[in-house]
Parts: sequence; C-alpha cells; structure tokens
Amino acid sequence: QTIGDFFDAMAARVPDNEALVSCHQQWRQTYRELQRDTDRLASALLHHGLRPGDRVGIWSHNNAQWLLTQLATARAGLILVNINPAYRVAELEYALNKVGCKALITMTAFKSGNYVEMIQSLAPELATSKPCELHAARLPALRTVIHLGEQAVHGMLRFSDLLAGGDVGDAAVVRAGARLKCTDPINIQFTSGTTGFPKGATLTHRNVLNNGFFVGEAMRLTPRDRLCVPVPLYHCFGMVLGNLACLTHGATIVYPSEAFEPLSVLQAVQQESCTGLHGVPTMFIAELDHPRFKEFDLSSLRTGIMAGSPCPIEVMKRVVGDMHMAEVTIAYGMTETSPVSCQSTTDTPLEKRVSTVGKVQPHLEVKIADPDSGETLPIGATGELCTRGYSVMHGYWDDPEKTAEAIDADGWMHTGDLAAMDAEGYVNIAGRIKDMVIRGGENIYPREIEEFLHRHPAVQDVQVIGVPDRKYGEELCAWIIRRPGAALEERDIREFCRGRIAHYKVPRYIRFVEGFPMTVTGKVQKFRMREIMKEELK
Ligand code: ATP
Ligand code: MG
Repeated sequence: QTIGDFFDAMAARVPDNEALVSCHQQWRQTYRELQRDTDRLASALLHHGLRPGDRVGIWSHNNAQWLLTQLATARAGLILVNINPAYRVAELEYALNKVGCKALITMTAFKSGNYVEMIQSLAPELATSKPCELHAARLPALRTVIHLGEQAVHGMLRFSDLLAGGDVGDAAVVRAGARLKCTDPINIQFTSGTTGFPKGATLTHRNVLNNGFFVGEAMRLTPRDRLCVPVPLYHCFGMVLGNLACLTHGATIVYPSEAFEPLSVLQAVQQESCTGLHGVPTMFIAELDHPRFKEFDLSSLRTGIMAGSPCPIEVMKRVVGDMHMAEVTIAYGMTETSPVSCQSTTDTPLEKRVSTVGKVQPHLEVKIADPDSGETLPIGATGELCTRGYSVMHGYWDDPEKTAEAIDADGWMHTGDLAAMDAEGYVNIAGRIKDMVIRGGENIYPREIEEFLHRHPAVQDVQVIGVPDRKYGEELCAWIIRRPGAALEERDIREFCRGRIAHYKVPRYIRFVEGFPMTVTGKVQKFRMREIMKEELK
C-alpha cells in the first residue's frame, strides 16, 4: 500500500473526525476535508509541470500546509525534500542542488529571517521570470517557487492560489496514483547534523508508512486520541512519529506553534485536551521547568514519545508524575531507518519504560555487534547497534559510497550507536561511538555520568564530553545548566560525586552554561562543544 491508499481508507472510516488542528493558524480540518485538499494540491502540482519522481523541497516551520504537502506529494508520486528552516542561503543552495529540486515551497517571513528575500538573493532571475519558468544560474534544476504568504511576489506562486486551482478527482492524480509502488521513494529526509553535515536519506512509502503505523500501535492510538506535535516536521520525528502515526490511526494531529515554544505546548495541550505529547528530552525539560507550568491542566495527557537523544531517567519520571503521561514511551531510531527501530509500548513495565528504549519493533531485526570485527555480541555486552528490515532506507541520495559504508552486504544498517540488550530483549543505548571517551585506557560512556548528575536537584540539564589531555589521552568535561534560581558551584558538584561514582568518572572540567549548541531538532551538538573546549584549553 502507498500512503495515499492508506489515507483514503482512513478517511472513509472516520470522515468527520478532526485530522488536524494548527493552533497558531486557527486551522482545523476533518479527515474528509484534508483528503479533499490533498487531492486538490496533488492535482495542482501535476498541472504545474511536476512529474512523478520530481523533487519538491519544503523549507518551512510547522504548519497545516506542510502536512498537506506531505500527503499531496506522496499521492502524486513526487519526492518531498525536507529542508531545515534554520538553513541560510548557502545551505539552501547546497540542499536544492544536491537533490535537484524542481519546485520549492517556502514560508515567507519568520522571526528567524525573511525566506522570500533569501530565495530572491539566490535567484535574482525571479524578478523577470514567469511562475514555473524559472531558469536561475545558481539553481539550475529549480523551475517553480511557491510561497505560503498572502502577498503577491513576482515570479512565485501563492500556495493558496495553487490549492484553490486544483481539481478533486483529477484524472492525472488517479493515473499517477495507480502507477505508484510501495517501494517508490517519496521522501529525502536530511539527518539532524548532530555529528557534522546532514546526509540525505531516501525513504519509500513502505519505509515510513509502516514505521508510522507501528509507532502508533505501540502508543495504542485510536481515533479518540489527540497528539500534540511540537517537534519539527522537517525531521522524521514530526513527519513519521507525529503525522503518520496519527493518520494511520484516525487520530488528531495538533500543532501548537511554528517553532518550538514551551508555553504554546502547555496551552495547546490544555485547550485541545491532548491525550499525547511528543518531544526530545530538551523540550520536555523546557516545559516542566517553565515558570507557568503549574497553571496548566494537563490531566488529559496519557501517552507520547520521548526520543531523539538519550532520555534521562529523572526527566522521564517527571513526565510520568508531573505531566500525567503514565503511558509515555521512549523510541530509538535514526533518519536512515525511517526512523524507529526500538520502542517501548504502553504496557512495558514502568521501570523498563523509563530506563530503556524498549524492544525491537515488530518485523524488524536488531543485533549488537563488535564495531571492529562485526561479530554478534552476547546478551549484556555493549557494541554497535545494527538494524535490518523494512525500515532501512533506500540509500543516501546519489551517494552509493556513503550508502555502502552504512548498509552492509547483508542489509544491516550500522547505526554508529553503542547499545546493549538484556535477556528479555530490552535495549539500552549507551551513546554514540563517536562520543565515547577513553580516559587512560578506560572506556567511559558520557551517558552514565549525565544520568548521575541529573539526580542533583539543582541541575536542570547536563552534557558530558571528552576533551584531549596529554596525560590520559582524554579527560571528562561537564557542561551544566542550573535550575532557575538555584545556587550551584563546582565544589557542590565535586561533593555530590565524591564516593558515589568512581574517581575517574568525576569530570575534570565543569562549566556552568546557559545553553548547549543545538540543532533545530533540539539535539545537542557535542562536536561543537568539543571544538569550543579545545579552543578554551589551548
Ligand atoms: P547526523 O547523522 O547528521 O549527525 P543525527 O544522527 O542526530 O545527525 P538523526 O537521524 O536525527 O540525526 O538522529 C539519530 C540519532 O539520534 C541516533 O543515531 C542516536 O544517536 C540518537 N538517538 C535517537 N533516539 C535516541 C534515544 N532514544 N536514546 C539515545 N539516542 C537516541
Ligand atoms: Mg546520524
């Protein structure tokens, strides 16, 4: 089945259920209405010169049009390319040319910049070209630019006009749909860029539709559920664990704001009686520690997913206790595996649910292998987690070499993450291979020290990295964000560590900071922290 087939079946089952609420846009749509608009947009895209297999970029924060574009491109057989809204001109140029985007959908202005102006600076030819007939020196494949604003912009189409001009039941859409196979690529999804430059993973209907479905199953979603999605849609967390998990279960998607704001999340959950909430750990921390947190009634919450980076046990416990999310689950995955490969389910025992990433998802395989020899390791041993099955990407777009490095001849995706599996099959992520610290021959997993320091009541968030050291090879360094109003000094941390963790695990360097270098997906870029420390310790 393709995404279009599955969505049609759901729209027939729950036509009058709300599919989407976009709070900041005051936009509400039932499944029937969303289906109608999806058809119209698919028809309009095909009538504006796009053909199945063409790449359509979307460069925008979260909004209703994003979801429509996701569904309409899948229906028309176009390949959606998610472009990070934090990108500036040079990165946009790289991304568009890397995958040869023929059309680009963009928001207009946002507090982070004027997107229309950025495109105009890259393609000044827009000023003299007709819509859909762009020939720009720096963007050779691009023909069409569509913007989400109200005003007219020369050389560009308005999204609202495009949508209004589409036909429901258009024969061209039906023909395109009939030719689609579930193994066709529908999405080029860029990785977060946590460890360096983002890579474009090519994903198919089969990859993401199945993954979204099983994620929803693990949360026991039903048409009565309303899921708050503050995570970016341009990333698989929003697009698959948010949008597709809901749409495959007839549930309602709620977008609280364009870009993440803790207050909008709390407001949306209360106003829309959300039963679920997604987030990376840093988002949940920002919500729990918001000065107005206690004003909100969050008792409608039941479930949700924390994922994306190591999920501290202390934070999980507060989500269960203070946010009423008794059935919250942790998911582990990566863009290249569509993304989830391990997830706890709502009936995983609580203690396992807060401390592990659960078990392997149905119809997938996971193994823990020696990173050097590739041999499968016994239960309890830490090694590289490898995944195999329907979820493994088609490959990195136009990069067979990198693809071959990541996926071996037997189909195993090598994740670059360290993990161990217990006798019951629960998986524990130790962290990225690249982040492991080797101090005087001793392997240290930063995750373990982070978990320990999270237990200090004045610590709001903490990240631990290795920094070069002449004597030991590497030394540990902790960056700590204090709880608002808390007095916390280096000696308090040392005192807290004394006698409770091995001396070599006590960070040599401790820094108090206001924040960490982060990707827009809310992930901490440890490589940048290492660069900063290297400069400082020079
Ligand atoms: P890049 O590959 O560009 O450096 P990235 O790996 O962060 O960025 P994503 O595909 O968004 O890009 O993230 C996948 C990674 O996130 C995993 O490989 C893993 O390191 C981390 N991760 C995801 N979920 C979890 C989790 N529940 N616990 C620990 N780590 C997680
Ligand atoms: Mg990665």
